[in-house]
Amino acid sequence: MKKSSGSQVVGRFAPSPTGMLHTGSLVAAIGSYIMAKQADGKWLLRLDDLDTQRQIPGMADDIMKTLESFGLFWDGEVSRQSRNIEHYQHAFADLYNNGFLYPCSCSRKDIAKSSSAPHPDDDCIPYSGTCRTGINQGSAIRSWRVRVKDAEITFSDMRKGWISQNLAVVTGDFVVKRSDGAFAYQLAVVVDDFLTGVNQVVRGEDLLTSTPRQILLQNILGYPNPEYCHLPLVTETDGSKLSKRDNLISHQLGNAAGRKNEQLFYALRFLGQNPPEDLLACNCDTILQWGIDNFKSAELPT
Ligand code: GLU
Repeated sequence: MKKSSGSQVVGRFAPSPTGMLHTGSLVAAIGSYIMAKQADGKWLLRLDDLDTQRQIPGMADDIMKTLESFGLFWDGEVSRQSRNIEHYQHAFADLYNNGFLYPCSCSRKDIAKSSSAPHPDDDCIPYSGTCRTGINQGSAIRSWRVRVKDAEITFSDMRKGWISQNLAVVTGDFVVKRSDGAFAYQLAVVVDDFLTGVNQVVRGEDLLTSTPRQILLQNILGYPNPEYCHLPLVTETDGSKLSKRDNLISHQLGNAAGRKNEQLFYALRFLGQNPPEDLLACNCDTILQWGIDNFKSAELPT
């Protein structure tokens, strides 16, 4: 695996404007912000707005206002996937011209899902390779897939350690462009991160299984591989559901809804950090600064 070059850390937070920022995304925002800032790096904001069907008007603004209200200010301009289509097209052409893509006429549920980030409850049935050697005569092209090799893709995650995945077994040849012309999340995210010089990807563990596909695309396209840290998930979004889990911190995180400084405090605890009790009375800036000064990735719960 090729290492990212360049000295400054560039992290990012990439929410999809499909709803308000929930506790789980807030944890990813805080984790990525603190880790980038601790390294004296930049923290970028990107709106993953490719999946137009799942978007809710007004949510992009709502997310940005919420981040600001926590003191989570991003560096530079906000980028939006919807403005990067031309770049995805270039990357697609590059893959195509180098013989990595083939058209597929199969109709599958995962094709419909492929423009948004996958989550653990999505079925992941490996594609059997029906169209690998050509589509049936008369069949329409529905999507474009990238050929994967029967080989392990291995990377080191800052929290989870060494991760290895054989894409031929787990996903099979995966979709990079859908029949409606939309580029798949897996391709878009790789191009976006490359374009903005992102070399540190800190995000929820629900995307851990996507990372090998993204590494494969980075490798084929000749992009450097960012470093990765997949954070523990807070899956439930309301306080009552959180309380059912045997996890005091996520319970407190849920109950602190509304009190931004407390949410930050408990998010740090959720991330395995140990902010002193008296920090609870401090404002968001002070709590974030404590995080920047004291965050230890080795303390992240495994
Ligand atoms: N937009 C994706 C999501 O909200 C995250 C993309 C990423 O962090 O790579 O799940």
